[in-house]
Amino acid sequence: MVTRKSPQELAVMAAAGRVLADVHQVLAEAVRPGLATAELDRLAEAEIRRRGGLPAFKGLYGYPHTIMTSVNDRIVHGLPGPRTLRAGDVLSIDTGVLLEDHYTDAACTWIVGGPEAAPPAVRDLVDATRRALWAGIAQLRVGGRIGDVSAAIAAVGDAGGYGVVADHDGNELGGHGIGRRLHEDPMVRNRGRAGRGLRLRPGLVFAIEPMFTLGGTGWRTLADGWTVVSADGSLAAHWEHTVAVAEDGPRVLTALPGEAAATA
Ligand code: MG
Repeated sequence: MVTRKSPQELAVMAAAGRVLADVHQVLAEAVRPGLATAELDRLAEAEIRRRGGLPAFKGLYGYPHTIMTSVNDRIVHGLPGPRTLRAGDVLSIDTGVLLEDHYTDAACTWIVGGPEAAPPAVRDLVDATRRALWAGIAQLRVGGRIGDVSAAIAAVGDAGGYGVVADHDGNELGGHGIGRRLHEDPMVRNRGRAGRGLRLRPGLVFAIEPMFTLGGTGWRTLADGWTVVSADGSLAAHWEHTVAVAEDGPRVLTALPGEAAATA
């Protein structure tokens, strides 16, 4: 079911989004070689709760952690644990905040040790995935269609020669509506046709989340039942924001401090 949010609901989601953005910023500053991903998970939970939110992923669908940490060939849904980060690792951190029964969802990809710790091709993968997120967000305009978002994301990936992760063996990975549930209709595919799909109206809120690889578009799920890895072992990046459609344009509820200005 597609739900449009009231101004009151949007205000709650905006507050949840600010908590989530602040926590992502704290996590970004904490990422360093030698740190275990489980430490990031503990930090994320403490920082979310300290700001009055609840870890949105914890307990949902039986998921036991606050964040998902997807390193290198992991595309999404990697489990935090004792694995320690190494300089040059490509780390996606995906997490959500639940505040007053409303969800927000955002993911960032960082190069452990800083961008210079990875070769230019890897930095470009991370940058292109982030640009694709903002290209998709720019299409969230009243009167447009959700397919416009999908097409814009894929266009950035195709231009760079990246694997645009969308569907594989009859399964789909991508964005989604969000509100009183983490996953609401519609699915927001990372590849699609402009001018097709749901018409965009004020009050709709979406989690937009491109995933690109340095190789192919296929994936498989590991025996843990969660971790999605690229089928060919290629490195993957993943960026996500929760965005509301408003009369005056897209409102990015989870933008990192300074991010909207920096990427506009
Ligand atoms: Mg999501």
